[in-house]
Amino acid sequence: MQTILFQDLIAATGGNPVGIADLEQPITRIETDSRKIRPGDLFWALEGKRFDGHKFVKQALAAGAIAAVVDQTKSQRIQGPKIEVEETVPALWRLANWYRKQFEALVISVTGSVGKTTTRRMITSVLSARYAGMESPDNFNNQYGVPLSLLMLEPHHEFAVIELGASRVGDIEELAAVAEPEVGAITAIGPAHLDEFGTLEAIVRTKGELIEAIPPTGFVVLNGDDRLVRQMTARARCPAILVGEREHNNVRACDVTLENNYLKFRVDNSNFELTVTGRHNLNAALTAIAIGRQLEMTDAEIGYGLRNFQSVAGRSNPLQVGSWTVIDDTYNANPLSMSAACQILEDWQTKGKRILVTGDMLSLGDWTRDFHRLFGEEVARSTVKNLIAVGSQAAVVAGSARKNGMDAGCLGVCRDHDLALMLLDCWLQPGDVVLVKGSRGMRMEAIVTGLQRLA
Ligand code: ATP
Ligand code: MG
Repeated sequence: MQTILFQDLIAATGGNPVGIADLEQPITRIETDSRKIRPGDLFWALEGKRFDGHKFVKQALAAGAIAAVVDQTKSQRIQGPKIEVEETVPALWRLANWYRKQFEALVISVTGSVGKTTTRRMITSVLSARYAGMESPDNFNNQYGVPLSLLMLEPHHEFAVIELGASRVGDIEELAAVAEPEVGAITAIGPAHLDEFGTLEAIVRTKGELIEAIPPTGFVVLNGDDRLVRQMTARARCPAILVGEREHNNVRACDVTLENNYLKFRVDNSNFELTVTGRHNLNAALTAIAIGRQLEMTDAEIGYGLRNFQSVAGRSNPLQVGSWTVIDDTYNANPLSMSAACQILEDWQTKGKRILVTGDMLSLGDWTRDFHRLFGEEVARSTVKNLIAVGSQAAVVAGSARKNGMDAGCLGVCRDHDLALMLLDCWLQPGDVVLVKGSRGMRMEAIVTGLQRLA
């Protein structure tokens, strides 16, 4: 973060300083976690579902924070130098928006039901082959993460790729107003967080808020192979670039193949190859190519950037574990990404067996059973030999796979990780490939570490 003066912060947030003698004092770092405070930081008290930062102001000041930004209704109970604001989250948004406007960097925002982080990383990888820039760290894509990401902008940055996540209608509109992106990208639409959104229409409405936020001088890159995303073109005030494999796309991939399990394809007369697996990564790559070309990069530079892309931990990450290949896809799961995982396993070139280990897909509300049943059908239609399902929906997935023709002797219904590992120990042979996936709450990474112990 570039230094901010107290007086700038006060002007941007409309805050009221209390006990701060010098308003020209610089702020070099803003921290919202009292445990991470370093001397000289400004502590920003945020109130979340589980924690209220206002309870930790004393601790933050004791650790060396120069002041705290607090909610005016809670200020009375708080001693020490502070800035009172109406509400601390919108105040952080106002500061981040003001801060973002101090810089020339082109802000690119990415949203969608799956693939935001992958696409964000892919765009950064490509643009970094020519330009200096930054991206949201980790999964900083919510009401706290977006402003904190923007506060990481520095004067030398020429671009910033900011991930936007949502769980309610209006979330993207709110975050886009903070980031004010000039470029938007929408990855795919599917039933993620369906319990919170209620309907797929609500998801479409929300993700499309990003398109409405892009000014006529900017542009959007849309997944043209996803009907729901393609239809969003009508909501754009700026040029829309469609990417995908189908003929109507502006940036169209041809000859898509997996060579040694890595994705290869051609766009116009240029060949591109990735160092990651999974056909689903094609959209992220095409989005990055479209943006790179708009920013006047050559295909050679773009290709170099794509080859530098490293897979993100827990997202379709192949690991050699003893004599087996274990594809760690344990970061999260929803119907779209579960289907993509099944495709990865199906495409994986191997002489051994294909084994899929799944945990429940969470956050699907009333549709939970239906989506697990549909997934079981999909596995039965694929070349997956063994399926081990873990969790409360395990019997639904396995039952549906069985009903659709999978051999009962190749199916495992497991209450917990240990049982799944016992079954894997019986079934695994040298050369087999195992893909492990489930929603975050299912902690399926325990299976990956368990396999590393077994090897
Ligand atoms: P989150 O909402 O948790 O931030 P995200 O949208 O950032 O997720 P990623 O972290 O990129 O998504 O990927 C999450 C999972 O979805 C991974 O398992 C990945 O393999 C899969 N995935 C990524 N892109 C796609 C896609 N285009 N289609 C289907 N699955 C995908
Ligand atoms: Mg993400």
